Amino acid sequence: MKKAIGIDIGGTITSVAIVDENFEISSNIDFPTPRNPEEAAGKIIESVNRIDPEKSYPCGIAVCGLISQDGRILYSAPNLKWKNIELEKLFSGLDRQFAAVNDGSSAAWGCYIAEGNSETENLLSITMGTGVGGGIVLNGNLIFGAAEIGHIKMDPDGPVCGCGKKGCLETYIGGIHIPARAREWEGLEVDTTQQLFELAEAGNRKAVKCWERIGFIAGYILAGVVNLNGSHKILLGGTVASYAGVFFIDTLRKTLIENLLAPEYQHCEIEISKWKNDISLLGAAALLLKRPLNMDANRIIDSR
Ligand SMILES: [Zn+2]
Repeated sequence: MKKAIGIDIGGTITSVAIVDENFEISSNIDFPTPRNPEEAAGKIIESVNRIDPEKSYPCGIAVCGLISQDGRILYSAPNLKWKNIELEKLFSGLDRQFAAVNDGSSAAWGCYIAEGNSETENLLSITMGTGVGGGIVLNGNLIFGAAEIGHIKMDPDGPVCGCGKKGCLETYIGGIHIPARAREWEGLEVDTTQQLFELAEAGNRKAVKCWERIGFIAGYILAGVVNLNGSHKILLGGTVASYAGVFFIDTLRKTLIENLLAPEYQHCEIEISKWKNDISLLGAAALLLKRPLNMDANRIIDSR
């Protein structure tokens, strides 16, 4: 059976796993992402060799940052403070074929190919984790460049984002910023989004209101995106969406539809991805299992 290794370098956690052609995930290894890129690459290579000692499978690497069109340079990963990294050099010890892609783009490919959406003409995926990523698939082509939905500007006087600018969407609905917003909006003393979720689950009205506000903000901005590019389907993935989605998906959907230009004609479904926080990893591996129409062989780096 055809297999590939998926690697998801996130702002908090890095995951490595084997994905087969039926999109079953096995042999997972997770670890906190080292802040130093060389150290991170070392740990990734060690994990890959542990789960594939025969060096049989190619690797798809999803990174939480802006990657060049050809997939060879990581320009910037704000949440890791990595800049201008030559990926071919960083992963030269992988000793396998690999392709690197923005984690939002890989999630979109995962949603499209593995989640039964390959009939969807125009798919948008949103990853709500530490930050907020986005990805677009158009008629079987993956948009490799920026789909940085998390950095759509909302307020020039808003909170400072990991990208250095102010008032990005991510500063309102990204996991790393949610605790600060919960304090501002409802005076809740929480340190993590998980705590805010647990409070909501325990019936705390203020915590529930915070999640609804997050749903409103996400729906409001996504309506703008749908008005712009005519997405037919939106899938939400990432850790925050996976556990707390139940508290904001209804508000998000309602706000999105209310703010479409012509809701009677614009059909846009919105769902939480069933792969939840594995979708970027799965999509990265899926790039090697079933390539997007616009992905040519030059995008695959051979470090053997
Ligand atoms: Zn930003």
